Amino acid sequence: MKVTNSMTSSNVQVEPLVVGPLFSNCYIMWDNKVRQGAIIDPGDDADIILGKVKEIDVGIRYILATHGHFDHVGAVAQLKTTLGAKFLAHKDDFFFIEDGKNAALRWGVHIEQPPKPDRFIKDGDKIKIGGFEFEVLHTPGHSPGGVCFLYNKMVFAGDTLFQGGTGRTDFRKGSFDDLARSIKQRLYTLPDDTIVYTGHGPITSIGEEKRYNAFVKA
Ligand SMILES: [Zn+2]
Ligand SMILES: [Zn+2]
Repeated sequence: MKVTNSMTSSNVQVEPLVVGPLFSNCYIMWDNKVRQGAIIDPGDDADIILGKVKEIDVGIRYILATHGHFDHVGAVAQLKTTLGAKFLAHKDDFFFIEDGKNAALRWGVHIEQPPKPDRFIKDGDKIKIGGFEFEVLHTPGHSPGGVCFLYNKMVFAGDTLFQGGTGRTDFRKGSFDDLARSIKQRLYTLPDDTIVYTGHGPITSIGEEKRYNAFVKA
């Protein structure tokens, strides 16, 4: 599924970027009118992300992590310093963030150690950016502190749900039972035409996954 601006709500725009050696999806989402936005999952390639932010020419209020794996937070340190944005993540993934630089090295990847989040987010929290507001959905399974960011019919799902698959559950504190429960109770209950901005691979929709996802069936 290709993202076009027509698929997003009026003033809200999304720019997807594929970053780093694990091809992580990073998204810049912003309010075109208020000129304020957020960066979701800047896993690597800070220079490319910064270049895009400059091109779009918006203020970045928050850097949001769907979870603490290094391929989603690897560029946070550089971006935070340059943009002066607040970094938000769930506390149950802080042990991954704290270990970020070393975890990356074990995969042969060099990142700058991610900073401690400015604030920990939890289920039900609202994050206001320009004229829109994300709701935080706690969706553990791929990692204990995994969250999705929901706004209207858009959900940034990180590694919770992929097109035709899910994130791995064999990392530390992963659980397939938790992941399946999170997907069924928190994502499959969203409207079918909700766009799922995944953490890796193509973008999909809730309806498509309810119909075709062979790993977690609706
Ligand atoms: Zn992950
Ligand atoms: Zn990932």
